[in-house]
Formats: sequence, structure tokens, C-alpha cells
Amino acid sequence: MYGLYIHIPFCKKKCSYCDFISYQGKEQLIPDYLSGVYREMEKYAGQPLTTIFVGGGTPTLLSNEQIIALMKKIRSLFSTRGLSEITFEANPESLTPDRLRALKTAGVNRLSIGLQSFSDPELEFLGRVHDLAAFKRAFATARQFGFANINVDLIYGLPHQTVLGWQKSLESLLSLDPEHISLYPLTIEEGTPFERDGVKVDDDLQAEIYDWSIDYLAGHGWCHYEISNWSKVGYKCRHNLLYWRNMEYIGVGAAAASYYKGFRMKNTNDIGEYLRMVDIGASPASEKEAIGTGKKLIEEVILNLRCMDGVTVSDEMQKKYGPIIENLAEKKLIEYSGQNMKLSRKGMQFANQVMKEFV
Ligand code: SF4
Repeated sequence: MYGLYIHIPFCKKKCSYCDFISYQGKEQLIPDYLSGVYREMEKYAGQPLTTIFVGGGTPTLLSNEQIIALMKKIRSLFSTRGLSEITFEANPESLTPDRLRALKTAGVNRLSIGLQSFSDPELEFLGRVHDLAAFKRAFATARQFGFANINVDLIYGLPHQTVLGWQKSLESLLSLDPEHISLYPLTIEEGTPFERDGVKVDDDLQAEIYDWSIDYLAGHGWCHYEISNWSKVGYKCRHNLLYWRNMEYIGVGAAAASYYKGFRMKNTNDIGEYLRMVDIGASPASEKEAIGTGKKLIEEVILNLRCMDGVTVSDEMQKKYGPIIENLAEKKLIEYSGQNMKLSRKGMQFANQVMKEFV
């Protein structure tokens, strides 16, 4: 069984912090792009799917007809008997009643809404196209249409943000009662307007906010199951868990990554190049790597460590990483007992450094 990821690299406007592969002002390419996606999916025809995740970019920029046709095409090409989760990423302003009706008709059963902040001045600073009122409207309408599994993304540690301001934001979010929350620290990525403008983040503030959020959400019964992700019971994101459990998945579209039949592949970021390649029946992958046993072991440790329940340390892992595990446990960055190794509270703050030890 595979997860299927489809990348929709179009946005109404580029946000000031964003380095995802998404393009502003190229919406006229969407019909051709979808034809390309169909052609690429044909290569995987007949494979059984367990989850679908349509991400971007802004997938809800697709028209109602395009959303319904895309899902119909997937169902005609793949075996979907075991399909349990279909997620669409969405920006609040694009979730009109019409769009929500189309998503429902198409069988989408999980929405992931990019809110990013509960404050209008912060939304403006981030370069988002929506305000808080648009999010609240979208969320309430999604509930009216019967969406019972909704994730909301927030970004923390913005310049001038205070811990108190953040606490109010998270409290307000919980009052809306979503099923899933993703919290990401603001990072300044190369080539973004934030980098150009010299925006800085305060690591201490981010650490304080993250620490407080872990306790606050635990106190309200939330399950912290991955470094940046919390869910109510029964609402972990099944698709993302496939990645973190190092399972194989199919990625389709420009910039999409796949892990398929022992190979990791990454498609070209360039939409024109992507369309040219799929048009002549060639692979749009610009990177391809066979994952041998050694690499697989590294990936298994690193990806599983992202999950709060950690890694079951096999004999092979113990043989390869014994001294590293001991050293990290001594520094109290991981907790290691029996055969289970997981990030400690301190390790969650320094997760990237911990992971690097295993590479
Ligand atoms: S909506 Fe998302 S993908 Fe699009 S520019 Fe903003 S952060 Fe990037």
C-alpha cells in the first residue's frame, strides 16, 4: 500500500518566508499541469493506495471541476479499496462554500488549513493574503459541510511576538476545537524576502514558546506525536506517518518526492521542464538514488526519531550506533530504555543536531 502525494505548485501570492516550490501568477498553466500530473500518475496505475495528500502551493486554487476530475482520475487509475485518508491543503481565502462543496463531493475527508497566525498584523507581516476573519469563516463553513478532521498550521517565534501573545493565539485556536495542530518555528530561508530584508529570529523566544506549547497542549489532552505535530485521539495524520515510518510513497507533480521500489526520487522544480518530460513519456525526476541497506538504516533512525514514541533499536542499529546512542543519552538529548530510543524534552529543542549524529 502506498501514500500518494500530489504537488500543486501555484499560489495567489508568495508569502515572505516561503521557500516551497510554488509560483505566483502562473495559474494559467493549471490545466496543462493537471494533464501532466495525469500522465505521470499513469506510470503507477494499479498500485494500491492507503492515503492521498494534495499539497502545495495552494491546491484549493484548483477550480471545483478540476478538484473533482483529479480525484476521479486517481480513483480510475489506482486501487483505492484501502484508502482511509484524503487530505487537501488549503488557504483560508480559497475555502469558499462552493469550493468546500466540491472537496466534499470529491471525497476529501481531511483539510489542512494554513492559518499561520491569529493576529492580523502578524499575517500581514508574513505576507499572507488572508486575515483572521477569513480563516474563522472558512473553518466554520468547513464544519457546516461536515469536515470532521481539520488541521491548522501556525508559525511561532516571529520578530516582536511575545510569549503572552502566542499563548493567546494557541488558546484561541483550541477554542475552535480542531482535530490536529501543526506548529512550526519561523525560519529564514535563502532567497526569500525575509532573508533579503534581514529579518532575524530569536532562538530563545522560539525555544520558550515551543516548551510552553508542549505543556499547554499536553494539559489539554492533546497527543504530541511528532516534533511539530499534535492530534486528538484517532486523528494523527496517516499520510505523514508513512513518511516518518520510512514507508514507501508515490509523489507526483513538479518538485514532488517519491520513495518507490527502493529508490528515492525528486522531480524537477521547473513546471515547463516537468511538462516536457511527462509529455514525451520520460521520467520528470531530476534526482534518483537507490536506497541500500546502510542508507535505509540511517533514514529509519532519523525519521522515526521525529516521532515522540521513538525508534525500536535493532541489533544492527545498536552495532552501528551504540557509542553515539550512549553519548546522546549521557547528554540527556535522548531517552534510551529497553530497546526504545526517543528524543528527550531537551532533545526536541535540538532535534536537528541530534539527527546529524546518525548521518
Ligand atoms: S501559501 Fe504556502 S506555499 Fe504558497 S507562498 Fe504561502 S507559504 Fe508558500
